[in-house]
Amino acid sequence: MEVVHIIDIHCHLSFKQYAEDRESVIEGAKKELRAVVTSGVEPSDAKEALKIARNHKDFVFVTLGMHPIHVEEFSSAELERYEEFIYEHRREIIGIGEVGLDYHWIKEPLKQRRVKEVFLRFLEIARDLRLPVVLHLRGATGSSAEAIEEGLKAIEDEDIQKAVFHCFTGKPALASEICDEGYFISLPATIKRSKTMKNVAKRMPISQLLTETDAPYLSPVENQERNVPQNVKFAYEEIAKVRKISVEELKEQIRKNFSALFGVVV
Ligand SMILES: [Zn+2]
Repeated sequence: MEVVHIIDIHCHLSFKQYAEDRESVIEGAKKELRAVVTSGVEPSDAKEALKIARNHKDFVFVTLGMHPIHVEEFSSAELERYEEFIYEHRREIIGIGEVGLDYHWIKEPLKQRRVKEVFLRFLEIARDLRLPVVLHLRGATGSSAEAIEEGLKAIEDEDIQKAVFHCFTGKPALASEICDEGYFISLPATIKRSKTMKNVAKRMPISQLLTETDAPYLSPVENQERNVPQNVKFAYEEIAKVRKISVEELKEQIRKNFSALFGVVV
């Protein structure tokens, strides 16, 4: 059988969109991919993500975080309990995330402030546990440049060594600023439709590039409502095309990048 090295570094297999057929989605992914990282976005989702990974060892990997849009649902005491939960499950996770800022969905200054506080708290956890961070940074408009800049400053201030900017929507100049600091950038399968993402893929250092789907969101397939991890292959095809390298070469590179970021050899 052909050895497959394709990796989806960010999706949400625990989400309700897979409630009916989760196992068959994962079995389908196993035929085309080598590894999938599913990201827990809040406490109950975190439990679900760990359960899935336990059933699919060495294929489904987990990062645990607190998505900015969920922050307001939890009291400080609940967040503390979640923090303890993450420490207890340290050996079952490969990163912290997704965590970050979201000015598209969160407009009120007070709420924005709390989101930032929680984000910084999770960066401390990542530093303490020596885990890489998966960043969600979304601005009020377009390229999200300000939110990305703010996130970059936060991880530098918090002395975070390893991080990936998931679903990067910024311009090539911002990508190079991030790469100069040694961080990674992940591009989704929707790169198919994005000129800016193609430019980023073309110009950034290939040793800091990763690929993802953000499934069930962001399907690259027209009229397909629900995205699946195996669609990450569209990102590989597009990136190989703009870099003028073979998909095989790109697979090997991304496999190395994945290990460099998460410390997991696949
Ligand atoms: Zn996500």
